[in-house]
This record gives sequence, C-alpha cells and structure tokens, in this order.
Amino acid sequence: MWVCELTFDCYQDIQLADAEQAVRRLLDALRYNGQILGREFPTSIHQGWLTSRVVCPERDSLHPRHHSRQVELAIEQLQQVGLLAPKLQVRGQDLNSDTTDDCTSPGWQLLYTTYLHTCSPLRCGKHFSPIPLYKIPAVANGDHKQVLKWQEDWEACDQLQMNGSVMEHAALAELGEPGSRLARRGRDLAKRIEYLTRVPTFYYLYRVGGESLEKEQQRPCPGCGNDWRLSEPLHDIFDFYCEPCRLVSNLSWDFKN
Ligand SMILES: [Zn+2]
Ligand SMILES: [Zn+2]
Repeated sequence: MWVCELTFDCYQDIQLADAEQAVRRLLDALRYNGQILGREFPTSIHQGWLTSRVVCPERDSLHPRHHSRQVELAIEQLQQVGLLAPKLQVRGQDLNSDTTDDCTSPGWQLLYTTYLHTCSPLRCGKHFSPIPLYKIPAVANGDHKQVLKWQEDWEACDQLQMNGSVMEHAALAELGEPGSRLARRGRDLAKRIEYLTRVPTFYYLYRVGGESLEKEQQRPCPGCGNDWRLSEPLHDIFDFYCEPCRLVSNLSWDFKN
C-alpha cells in the first residue's frame, strides 16, 4: 500500500467549516470506492491550502480513471467552497501493510476481514491478498459503500469478541452463524460480487468454541449439512470449504494450534 498526500489549494477566501466538510465528503467517497483505506485521514490547514494524508492500495489508486460518480461529484463540489481539485503526491510505500493482489482474474475470491485489517475485504482465494474494490464493478449505487459498511460491522463484532467484556456472545453469533444478519448481508454481497465479476466468491464464517476436537473436525457445512473439511488448511486459517454453499470456515480456534 502507498502513503499519499492530497493537497487542496484555495483559489479564494474559504469558510473553514465548508472547506472541511467538502474535503470530508471527497474522502468518504474515495473510501467507499476502495481508493483510500482506513478510517482516519489527518488533515491539516495551512496558509492557502489544506492537506490530507491517505493510504491507497496501489500507486495509481487515485487516478481519475478509477473514480466513481460520487468521487467526481465530490470533486466538483470542492469548487463551490473555493477549493481546487486535489493535487496528489505519492510519499512512498507503507511498510506494515498487505500487498495488493496481482491476479487479473482470480480463480476464486472471498470476503474476509478482521478487526486489525484496513485493507479491502475482498481477497484473492489463491494468494489471500486484497483486491482493491475499484477494480470490480460497483456493487450498488455507483460504489462499494455497502461492502465497506459490512466490513465495519464485521470488524466491530470482531473487536467486541476479542475484548470479551461486553456483548461477546451476540458478536460471536453475528460472525459465526450463517443466518445472522451480518452473515446474510455478507453472503448477499458475495453473491452480488460473484455475479458482477463472474468469479466464485465465498463468505467466511468465524468459528470458536465447541465440545471437542473430534466433533469440531467432523462439523458439517452449516449450509447443506455435507462434509466440507479440507485435507490441508488453506492460508493457515481455513479448514472447511463448501463449493456449492460458497462458505469457508476455520477449525474452532479453541482446538486449532
Ligand atoms: Zn491472486
Ligand atoms: Zn455446504
């Protein structure tokens, strides 16, 4: 991933509140299109310009050819508050982040995230590396906001179950049960992405707990009830894989070494 800086020059006197709001709108639109990652974008104000620091999945993520309609509109709205379209400076590669997937068309892909991840939740099945969302057709209303909102909810549940102090069980049910509201939303998104990309798209069900290792090893697919265990774990995480149900899962973390 790449650390970049966006500079917004003021071409007239600006109202700071309006300028901040317009910049925020653009950053949101870029985020919902997968062109910038994460939730926090330090923005500073200088004499005659504003600058925001962002992280992008690729060196050219902010090229106009990747813009969604919402991003284009947000850039047009900058002018109404006295700001010019942003100038981009690539600062360098981000050292502590995943590398973006290189496949032009992966054999399969999956929706996967954790509370620690800021990268795209769509990953190549073969390399397990993130696929920038702007590379696939928009899932709804011109961008990927629905995917980002699903990711935020998944990460919030994961954070709650990791902390284990409040709402742990409710969070685990959302992450692990195929019929939970979170899973239904995620599986619908995976279906939609599969339809748009023509690439089989799987959904990950988190698994923890269970009575014994033996029982967990024999756990059937919660979708169809068939055997879905893999002979070898995949990417050190997935021990179960059901092609027709488009589901993957892990051997309960309680019994996985
Ligand atoms: Zn790949
Ligand atoms: Zn199944």
